Amino acid sequence: MKKNNPIRMCITCRKRESQKTLMRLQLVDNSIVAYQGFGRSIYLCRACSLSEKKVNGIAKRFRIERSVLSTILKELEKNG
Ligand SMILES: [Zn+2]
Repeated sequence: MKKNNPIRMCITCRKRESQKTLMRLQLVDNSIVAYQGFGRSIYLCRACSLSEKKVNGIAKRFRIERSVLSTILKELEKNG
């Protein structure tokens, strides 16, 4: 049986963690949305998602409003 515990890398601190513990986001037209089950996904570890500085950096890097990114991260946090 295949082990279903993929390791993914946080886009900010490059720490490798189990996919389950990372927040999964998606790139659509070079902008970030919550993962919708298709397309290119990116991952963010919990520590980075809670860091004001890191979230600012991601918002800048992907040209997304910081408030929009914060809302997505909060949603993900709530939904586990
Ligand atoms: Zn991280």
